[in-house]
Amino acid sequence: MTAKRTTILQRSDHTVSRQFIDRDALQVMHRLNRNGYKAYLVGGSVRDLLLGRIPKDFDISTDAEPSDIKRLFRNCFLVGRRFRLAHIRFGRHKVIETSTFRKQPTTNESADNLVQWDDNQFGTPEEDAFRRDFTINALFYDLHDFCVIDHVGGLADLRKQLVRTIGDPNIRFREDPVRMIRAVRFAGRLGFRLETRTRRAIIKHADEILLAAPARLLEEMYKLFGMSASEPSFRLLWQLDIMHVLMPELCNYIKDTGGRKSPLWRVLTALDQGGLFEGTAHHALLLSTLFQGPMVSACADLHTLHDVNVACANWLEPIATRFRMPRGVRYRVLRLVENQIRFLQLQERFVSGRKSKSILRFVAHPSFAESLALLKLRAAAGLVAPEAVSFWEDMAKKHGGELSVSTCRDKVEGGETVPRRRRRRRRRKRSHEA
Ligand code: ATP
Ligand code: MG
Repeated sequence: MTAKRTTILQRSDHTVSRQFIDRDALQVMHRLNRNGYKAYLVGGSVRDLLLGRIPKDFDISTDAEPSDIKRLFRNCFLVGRRFRLAHIRFGRHKVIETSTFRKQPTTNESADNLVQWDDNQFGTPEEDAFRRDFTINALFYDLHDFCVIDHVGGLADLRKQLVRTIGDPNIRFREDPVRMIRAVRFAGRLGFRLETRTRRAIIKHADEILLAAPARLLEEMYKLFGMSASEPSFRLLWQLDIMHVLMPELCNYIKDTGGRKSPLWRVLTALDQGGLFEGTAHHALLLSTLFQGPMVSACADLHTLHDVNVACANWLEPIATRFRMPRGVRYRVLRLVENQIRFLQLQERFVSGRKSKSILRFVAHPSFAESLALLKLRAAAGLVAPEAVSFWEDMAKKHGGELSVSTCRDKVEGGETVPRRRRRRRRRKRSHEA
């Protein structure tokens, strides 16, 4: 496919300024340019800069091949099996992802299964724009002359606030079903509408979403929590019936608790407003905001810790299996939700005059602060009394419990580990046994 009309916006006609571009990303583009390669800022960063938002990350596309990039940057690591990408690392945490222009593999539209596993062919900048998912994600910024280049009609869609697939949405979603969740992410986060054909295609192909690799689905789900937009994003996922396919268990809870008025939406709104977990939250904490409602309901009238553990584990099992949730995440979700029940049980015990060592142990436990953060969200959503939060905050202060999630996080990661299956160590052969 080629561009009918490529639009080039000169520097004076757009708002993208180098001032807002990451210095290391600028340096990467400069070095590629100096060595005779084309290099554009691409994807979400150009979209966000044009919208006056702060980009989450800065991606670069170039005609330099991965081995050329590796040669130019000592801090470059080639990653990816399907497509070799260059990760250029700065410091401990920053990665500037630099990919070689590539083209969309040809699709046999009449085939039953269009899912693509091989997209490893280099292409031109224009072909690279067309292989991307949505028009608003396919804009290029050229540091050479400060122009914004649009091969796909992305500038018009940015103005109209539309998420539109590049090409036929029925094909693009079947090639990569994860794009359906991505469409929801951008619409939810930016407050954009889904263009009509794009929306219809999602409704039509939602059933096929589980054809995508579980790890990618889980990763995209985590991203729905980002940028303080979890409520609009998950609500759209639910409205478009994608959630029915991904997590029917959660949909049952939403239906039973008032549909669009379900308390789940209030919990997610509280999460978005609190900025509590932004950027730092452990995946388990994010997932537990989604699952706490149905899991706590599954424990209604259960009194022993053992019964609560079993009920929570049974509820989570099918979802954890479906997404191949890592054992550590699964274990932590269980603990965070079980602790919601412990909060109430231990408080009742205390109020009825029974002094309990369990309270001291509970407050000192590494998972306490995260569990309390979740309790606060539930209180903000009206699911528990605000007094429960103040009670536990007082207890924490009195007994030296941790109140901040970030410090607690380090502790949880360092202090509390998933019980591991014990492995036998191989006995080393001694030299005289050789
Ligand atoms: P965010 O701001 O959340 O990072 P983003 O648009 O930068 O959003 P990324 O997941 O970082 O999204 O991907 C970078 C770019 O790569 C996208 O903007 C898009 O052009 C392209 N892309 C990513 N995933 C796909 C996909 N599944 N199909 C086609 N293009 C994709
Ligand atoms: Mg990005």
